[in-house]
Order: sequence, then C-alpha cells, then structure tokens
Amino acid sequence: MNNWYHITTGQFGYPQPENDFGYLELTYEPNIGCPTCHIGIKQNNPFRFKNEPKAKNSQFIGLNWVFDKIFVREPVKTEFEKNGITGISFSRPIFHKSEKELESIYQLHVDTILPEALISNNLTSEKCEYPKEESAIKFLKAMDSPLVKGPFCGQIKYNFPQGKKMTFDIEPFKNLPDFVRTFEWFGSGASANRPILISEKVKRIIELNKWRGTFLDQIELKN
Ligand SMILES: [Zn+2]
Repeated sequence: MNNWYHITTGQFGYPQPENDFGYLELTYEPNIGCPTCHIGIKQNNPFRFKNEPKAKNSQFIGLNWVFDKIFVREPVKTEFEKNGITGISFSRPIFHKSEKELESIYQLHVDTILPEALISNNLTSEKCEYPKEESAIKFLKAMDSPLVKGPFCGQIKYNFPQGKKMTFDIEPFKNLPDFVRTFEWFGSGASANRPILISEKVKRIIELNKWRGTFLDQIELKN
C-alpha cells in the first residue's frame, strides 16, 4: 500500500469579484449547498482572476478563501499527462473584466469523491446551527455575520487538523485514481471545502521536478 498525501497550495490574490464574496455567485451553481456554512457548494463556472498570477516560481497556485481548488502552470499539465496521472482534468480560469482566458495557468479539476472514510475522532468539528455561546453570538451580531442569521442546515464540517494527521479507513484506497477528494467537508465558519488527496506517484513527480507552491501532508490509513 502506497502513501497518500493531502495537497494544499500557497494562496495568491482573491477570487473575483471579491466584494461581499461576490465570486460565489458567479463561480458556483445557484441554490446548491448551504448558503450559511457553504457545505455542498459546487463550481459550475471558471474562477475569475484580476491578473495573471505573479508568483513566477510557483508551479502550483491557489486563491485566498478557496482551499480546495488548485491552479497549475503548463509544465505540470504536460508532465501529469505524460505520466498518465488519473483523476484530473484541466480548464482555463478567466479574467474578471474581459472574461478572456488566462494564459499562464490552468485549473486542475478533481472530481472523484472518496466514499465516507474519514476517521474523525482526533478532529474537532462544527455544526451549522445557531451559535450556542453568548459571547460568540454578540461578536457575530456586531459583525452582521450570516453565521447568526442562517438558514442552518445542521451538517458537520471538520476543522483542519493542526499538527495531527488526517486519518482514513484504508479500504477505499485500494483502487483509486491519483487525485481524489474526501467525502467529508472541512473548514470553519462560512468556509467549506473537500480536501484533495494525491497518490505517492504524484508526490514523486512533484519532487522530481522540484515544483514549488505545494504543501504535502501525509495522511494516515488504518485497517
Ligand atoms: Zn449549513
């Protein structure tokens, strides 16, 4: 059994339009997912950028606020395709103003969702519901936060483990493409995403090419 890794990227700039999180409306399918905690949201349009990303030395690029979308430069696409990496497809993000395609990066799409496999007992989680603590309610009301207005869907998301490994049941990992997403949602507050996991083969290609811009955290697989 090979190892698997949770992949994240450095974050450069914001998805457009950034005022009032306007990108959500233009990038995600309407009426899908919870409008408060964002569990279940689904991308249906290209991400919109202000400029071509400047981080010239990073082959992997991400956006602030969006933790589960990966953008890559041309050599990554070429090399992954050459090596027969599975579970991915590519498309061009667009400029917010002109709606023309960016030329320097692709979005790397990962659409395979693992079965439920997270072993969650070392993780903290939060439920989408009216907050319980008086101090939190006061604070969120002062900020005019949607998190005290609802609607509340009652679903759970897990906070990203700090200094601990994400742990999964080993069973579903036996016959998977090289890129998958977790079934479970992670994040906090209004942020919700499905982390991307990569195979040992992908990790080796990233390291061999000395590509920059990714963070890889090994996950633990248990019988
Ligand atoms: Zn919710």
